[in-house]
Amino acid sequence: MIQQTRIRTINQAPEGQAPSYVLYWMGLSQRARCNPALEYAVEEANSRHLPVLVCYGIAEGFPEVNARHWSFLLEGMAEIGPALEKRGIGFVARRAPPVETALRYAAKAALVVCDRSELRPARQFQADFAARAPCRVMQVEGDVVVPVQTASPKHEIAARTFRPKINRLLPDYLVPLEEREVRHSAHHLPNDSTLDLSDVPRLVASLKADQSVRPVRRFRGGTMEAEAQLRTYLDNSLAGYAAGRGRPEAGAASHMSPYLHFGQISPVALALAVQQAPGGDAEDRAAYLEELVVRRELAMNHLHYEPRYDDYTAAPAWARKTLDAHRSDPRPFLYTPEQFEQGLTQDRYWNAAMTEMRETGYMHNHMRMYWGKKIVEWSASPEEAWNTALRLNNRYFIDGRDANSFTNVGWLFGLHDRPWGPRPVYGNVRSMGQASLKKFDADGYVREVERLAQAEQ
Ligand SMILES: Cc1cc2nc3c(=O)[nH]c(=O)nc-3n(C[C@H](O)[C@H](O)[C@H](O)COP(=O)(O)OP(=O)(O)OC[C@H]3O[C@@H](n4cnc5c(N)ncnc54)[C@H](O)[C@@H]3O)c2cc1C
Repeated sequence: MIQQTRIRTINQAPEGQAPSYVLYWMGLSQRARCNPALEYAVEEANSRHLPVLVCYGIAEGFPEVNARHWSFLLEGMAEIGPALEKRGIGFVARRAPPVETALRYAAKAALVVCDRSELRPARQFQADFAARAPCRVMQVEGDVVVPVQTASPKHEIAARTFRPKINRLLPDYLVPLEEREVRHSAHHLPNDSTLDLSDVPRLVASLKADQSVRPVRRFRGGTMEAEAQLRTYLDNSLAGYAAGRGRPEAGAASHMSPYLHFGQISPVALALAVQQAPGGDAEDRAAYLEELVVRRELAMNHLHYEPRYDDYTAAPAWARKTLDAHRSDPRPFLYTPEQFEQGLTQDRYWNAAMTEMRETGYMHNHMRMYWGKKIVEWSASPEEAWNTALRLNNRYFIDGRDANSFTNVGWLFGLHDRPWGPRPVYGNVRSMGQASLKKFDADGYVREVERLAQAEQ
């Protein structure tokens, strides 16, 4: 079922005359399964006796997207054509900008279906396309469990205000999406793909992108890989999530964030799989859904309603005021952005976290909190800390440049939080000290990072 609230018309153009297909311009939802935009395109095509064509254009040279990100994305993209072909759906991938690609194929479309992202550049691409498209453009929101404006019509201040609203809606949105039968095959449509996905490492090496942030061995992109990892996780590690999710060495984390970030797995399918998993108890399932649905979609809410989400001024006024009042406090240690990036602090646990991020593209949530809070404490100013944390986050994490990236960096500066007892440097913003490293086997974590970093060499 595709809920009506996921679907909206985003331009005024009429339907295309003498069309050859219904076009799905793939953006964020980079998957051939459990994709409401794709299934909507199939429904619309069937009712017009037309085939479906899916197109993707690569935003080569896009700021902050480096070889690591492209590698993960393109590994996923390489699976999509063959999977769609099996269903009789056409797929073209072009080494050309996204809007140019969509306009090229929109010329022969009855209508264009696209998906939805809350990130500003993606919204701008879509607005630009919708204004120039020769036919009607429909948007289908499929990378959240509950559509952002349905979950809440306003900018939420904290998880506690958002939780009851979104949880009330879950019975209507946590439902499986059936695959529609494709009634008109696209096999006769010409394929003029120019993006050669047969050798992803070679393609990545040829791209105009920062090649110094290398692809990692630890994670491979794609829906098949996401589903295989999820099966192993549900069988072995979900049990214990509630008790172990705060301990990096407990093995309780699912590592689904890179796949969610690139739309390679559907959050609805993931939530349903967790709900139905044989391993784990009600507490584990509830704790997982709290992170996947409440926290993740609170981040979407923040990006939707806060236009300055990537700027320090997106931190709440009370937090900026208290950080400003403590601007001149002596820092116990002071590091430049470059020292942070190289992991050259006096703290071996912090350095290990930076190594995990830089060398493997991932970090456990507890260490992300510690890592970020220490950047606040050890930087010359809150503005410099914001810029350092956000830049490193988006450069090295495979799941960087996500709604979660901007919102969680915001959390380091009081977003979605409340004032705490005053501390040097932090003022009333929540601090994090060495005590948080005593709650788990921090030396074991350092050893594990050494092993992971070695495996990347
Ligand atoms: C400073 C800082 C920076 C962060 N940067 C990012 C980022 O760039 N990209 C990103 O996706 N997440 C980010 N997070 C949120 C969180 O740390 C990651 O989503 C999580 O660690 C991903 O690992 P996992 O999939 O194994 O999580 P699991 O524990 O298995 O959780 C399952 C899913 O729930 C969601 N989730 C878990 N924790 C959070 C959280 N705190 N907030 C929102 N959603 C959550 C994620 O979608 C995650 O994949 C950041 C957190 C902090 C404190």
